[in-house]
Amino acid sequence: EAPDTQQELTDGFHLVIDAMKLNGIDTIYNVPGIPITDLGRMAQAEGIRVLSFRHEQNAGYAAAIAGFLTKKPGVCLTVSAPGFLNGLTALAHATTNCFPMILVSGSSEREIVDLQQGDYEEMDQLAIAKPLCKAAFRVLHAQDIGIGFARAIRAAVSGRPGGVYLDLPAKLFGQVMNAQAGAASLVKVIDPSPAQIPSPDSVKRALDVLKSAKRPLIILGKGAAYAQADEAIKNFVEKSGVPFLPMSMAKGLLPDLHPQCAGAARSTVLKDSDVVMLIGARLNWLLSHGKGKSWGDAPKKFIQVDIEPKEMDSNVEIAAPVVGDIGSVVTAFSEAMGSNWTKAPVEWLSAVQKKREDNVAKMAPRLMNNNSPMDYHGALGVLRTIIKERPDAILVNEGANTLDLARGVIDMYQPRKRLDVGTWGVMGIGMGSAIAAAVETGKPVLAIEGDSAFGFSGMEVETICRYNLPICVVIFNNDGIYRGTDQNSAGDDPATTVFVKGARYDKMMEAFGGVGVNATSPDELKRAVNEAMDSGKPTLINAVIDPAAGSESGRIGNLNPQSVLTKK
Ligand code: ADP
Repeated sequence: EAPDTQQELTDGFHLVIDAMKLNGIDTIYNVPGIPITDLGRMAQAEGIRVLSFRHEQNAGYAAAIAGFLTKKPGVCLTVSAPGFLNGLTALAHATTNCFPMILVSGSSEREIVDLQQGDYEEMDQLAIAKPLCKAAFRVLHAQDIGIGFARAIRAAVSGRPGGVYLDLPAKLFGQVMNAQAGAASLVKVIDPSPAQIPSPDSVKRALDVLKSAKRPLIILGKGAAYAQADEAIKNFVEKSGVPFLPMSMAKGLLPDLHPQCAGAARSTVLKDSDVVMLIGARLNWLLSHGKGKSWGDAPKKFIQVDIEPKEMDSNVEIAAPVVGDIGSVVTAFSEAMGSNWTKAPVEWLSAVQKKREDNVAKMAPRLMNNNSPMDYHGALGVLRTIIKERPDAILVNEGANTLDLARGVIDMYQPRKRLDVGTWGVMGIGMGSAIAAAVETGKPVLAIEGDSAFGFSGMEVETICRYNLPICVVIFNNDGIYRGTDQNSAGDDPATTVFVKGARYDKMMEAFGGVGVNATSPDELKRAVNEAMDSGKPTLINAVIDPAAGSESGRIGNLNPQSVLTKK
């Protein structure tokens, strides 16, 4: 039956757009195609910023990091089956990292998919997404679009944030309904991530343990950066007088040059501390699971602050679990500490500071070398100064040696300015993260990339040029993965870990109208990056690094399994 032509109508396309707008979703990271091309067009026409990428995985990584930066779900929009699968890696990454994200995918006809009759891009996407994300929903009727988005948004941001899959079959978009009824079906999510106040007992228990410590340590993780409770965290940390260690994406939450920062004394504080308070950091592989050699022999007590109750005791006993949102918890700590809290023993803080100064002094001369071809330290020395002079710029960082060394060398000064490979140590987040960082914050972005890491998302330099984003990409080009010097002893093929020698990634940028520079010395690098950061022009600098510089897998070479049969 034809709908009454007299009444005003809406349809699935418009209800999806209206549901997003009603909930403050103003940006979509997408790759167009069947069945969502028109959705992207219409969303753009209705004032949503729709950024089209060259590959869904990069659009997905952009949405994931947008979620981290804004505390709102980043939205990635993809086509069915292959596009969906490409986006799924990023959705799983967002879930693993506790970033709120929604992957919205078009899908094929339910009836045909379920009977496996071979539809265009046939795939049971909902079933596949489910085990890889925090929640997954499908909307079959236009009148349920409002509820579908409400559920997706709340699932993404409440409690421990994560990735949500939202399946929208092609047929849904064209479904029409009365416009008034459509508007009434939309849901504005009220208080999507409610404060979670810690129990007073848990607060007291935690402070009692902290008070008993002779050598306490606070570890700040990216959950603490995500929480956007910057002042409350700073107040608590300073009131406690406890040295703090920032995990990589928590760097800058308190400045790396803060007198209590133990960043450059990491191994000492892990070994020697007797009480460790984790704030938004998990005791996963990045912290050696809270046990073993790097944690030393002295007995340790852990206090853990996390919104996810199941995180407690995941690896070792937690003497004082505090379940709540970080803002509420640290505020409760500061209040309960009162005005005459005894700060952490000053001998301990001095010992940490001494260690830190020694380590910094040891590294300093290496950062000042002007070698050509460059080594990592020479190149990073100049980039370190550039970030110091532009503390509000955003640093994106991936690679093996490029990641591990940049993390240690480059001090951060403000919260949420360092974006990197996250919990999986995944390569490929680079261009997606850089684009989202520029789009969401409007700040200049410096992306420091290993040549191998860059390869996973390199085509997005076209996207950067197309949207004219203030992104400067620096490729640490040492001709290969880990190093460019490997030889194949068995034949003519290049060794498995080397790339084309002397490749000129800067020419890629020029192909799309951006600025390309080949830098062979720290001085040249410095000049080119300064110019890019000042001009805001899309720029790619091919930084020529000695192919022999770097080590296998950077700092995590120990994770490579060894063959006992390998001849030494
Ligand atoms: P890192 O890798 O920096 O050590 P992780 O990703 O391992 O950090 O840990 C982040 C933790 O922060 C997760 O366990 C997550 O549940 C928690 N978290 C995220 N947001 C909040 C919040 N607002 N309040 C409390 N905990 C949070």
